[in-house]
Amino acid sequence: MKKRSLLPVLAFLAALSALATLAQSALAQSKPGIERMYVLYCGDIHLKDASSFTPGASGPGHLSVTCYLIKHARGWVLFDTGVGDHIVNMPDGQKSQAGFWTVKKTLESQLGEIGLKPADINYVALSHSHGDHVGNLKLFPQSTLVVQKAEWDWKPPVGTPISQSGMKAITPDGDHDLFGDGSVMLIATHGHSPGHQNMLIKLPKTGAIMFTGDSVHTKANWDGGRVPQRNFNVPQSLEALERMRTVLKQANAVLWIGHEPSEVPNRKYAPAYYE
Ligand SMILES: [Zn+2]
Repeated sequence: MKKRSLLPVLAFLAALSALATLAQSALAQSKPGIERMYVLYCGDIHLKDASSFTPGASGPGHLSVTCYLIKHARGWVLFDTGVGDHIVNMPDGQKSQAGFWTVKKTLESQLGEIGLKPADINYVALSHSHGDHVGNLKLFPQSTLVVQKAEWDWKPPVGTPISQSGMKAITPDGDHDLFGDGSVMLIATHGHSPGHQNMLIKLPKTGAIMFTGDSVHTKANWDGGRVPQRNFNVPQSLEALERMRTVLKQANAVLWIGHEPSEVPNRKYAPAYYE
């Protein structure tokens, strides 16, 4: 009997296994990247003078503070950390440059309500390093920071430079696709601070949403195309607004303004979530 070579069989098996790997990776790619998004209450800002953030406004003002938590197939991502949880114990709140901050409910307790500990958060993406966005950063020493390089390199006149947080960090210079699947994008919107960034997410059912950080503080500013004069770089902030309008259109996304108090009643807060 003639001996048959095993080579063709082996080649066939190798081809089969390559096909299976391809199919597997196609399946992984078609899996929705984001599973859920939670809106978290992250404090309140009380302003002596509303015009300090909204040019043209008068009298005292109020801004909401909002953080967002994303469950992606490859990890938990928190966008901004709000004012500090310790303020919950201060009956008169904590003084800030423009007024004072209060906290009715801590970020940590809201994570707890959805069964999470701070150590479960894989990434903390910061819009920028101002106090009402980094107030709870100390809760997440084991997370990976995601901040623009220009923000990382910045030495702000008040507060601690973000590079001194002691955290490991991803520091993109410009737009960044966090998981490489387009579902969690950081959009460079420098100007309010040197390395400010927005976040653009794509939810499987709700669709695309852009979170502002402080690129826009209020709906009045967005509608009027205005930014506070106290911004780090006013012309660059105005360019960022134009860029946002373009990106929103391209992504067919809606804009959520985290500091706009009139948005609060329209949002489902954690433990409820968006899909
Ligand atoms: Zn700010």
